Amino acid sequence: MYRLLCFLTLGLALAQSGCRNSSPPPSRGTPSGSVTESATTEVAGNARLRVFSTEAKTALVVMTAIDPRARAEAWAALKATEEYRRLSERETSFHRSMSDTTFYQWLTADSTIARAPALERTLNTWMASDIAGAVERSAAYLPRGTPISAKLYFMIKPHPNTFVYDTEHNPAIFVSVDSTVDAAQFENEIAHELHHIGIAAACPAAPASSSQTPMDTLVNWMSAFGEGWAMLAAAGGPKVNPHWESDSADRARWDHDYAHVSDGMKQLSGFFDSVLTRRISTPDSVQAHAMSFFGIQGPWYTVGYLMAQTVEVHAGRDKLISVICSPPKLLLSYQDAAQKANRAGANLPLWPEHLVSQLRRYVQDSAKTTSAIRRDGTRR
Ligand SMILES: [Zn+2]
Repeated sequence: MYRLLCFLTLGLALAQSGCRNSSPPPSRGTPSGSVTESATTEVAGNARLRVFSTEAKTALVVMTAIDPRARAEAWAALKATEEYRRLSERETSFHRSMSDTTFYQWLTADSTIARAPALERTLNTWMASDIAGAVERSAAYLPRGTPISAKLYFMIKPHPNTFVYDTEHNPAIFVSVDSTVDAAQFENEIAHELHHIGIAAACPAAPASSSQTPMDTLVNWMSAFGEGWAMLAAAGGPKVNPHWESDSADRARWDHDYAHVSDGMKQLSGFFDSVLTRRISTPDSVQAHAMSFFGIQGPWYTVGYLMAQTVEVHAGRDKLISVICSPPKLLLSYQDAAQKANRAGANLPLWPEHLVSQLRRYVQDSAKTTSAIRRDGTRR
């Protein structure tokens, strides 16, 4: 979801039919009371999402408490929450300081306090929404049995951003409570972000190499097509508009950009050529170009969605999931599916043949290397 900061890794886990293990939604406001630590767990197959709401509920107490002592106690409790501690840790890792004083001043500012009723309504709506369904939708686009263990933190905080943090070791989705986002949009965001976490869980990281070829660099960046995967998974199927739940302006923007997806493919092809021919070669310049294709929901999203959706429609979801850890195989599978569809009258854009040839060689060489390593028995 564009509202979220998404990360770039490809991989996945399809879970079996979901069982649900949810606690009831939180009680409504507790303006003068204490807030107890709470975490519920949503499970679908091997995907497990623990949901934390203590920071958000405690923030509401700080905002609305009349008794100064109750407010001070709530503030002390808020600072002790796992969510606040990890948010602070994350900000530090980005070389940004998160001052307790600034946070408290924001929380108790008149303009913030005025928003408390709306924030509380939104928190309650989100907590009562179908989070388990979002976990299931995400897991349905992952290899069966991929284990996911993630946390969802509802946050009331000064910066209204939502993001995924620490995907490798202790993945967490920080969701900023936002009264302009309804339950369906929230569920879509959770499914989207969980899919990114699932890819990281399903696909082993490539071994570090001291001699990275331009193609290695490119393949690395192609994992950004995971944005398209996540949109398809969050929508729940290839026939559902991935912005069905959005407001009309967002949906119109997506529909317009997606109608011009061939332009996005041309932009990416130009970038890929520039990397392969070393016209763009330094890591900084490669990164700058690659990042420009994110945009609000730029070509990494539109072209990634086109490829994943097309492969599913023409070759099936199992085929799609079989290439989840290999962006070159996704691209090649798309090319095959699109050519077949075009022969039957469709008009899908195609990747340039010289790029396709290079990717086929890359996939074949990678398979040979893997098989040689297996024969040699030095690495499994
Ligand atoms: Zn994303």
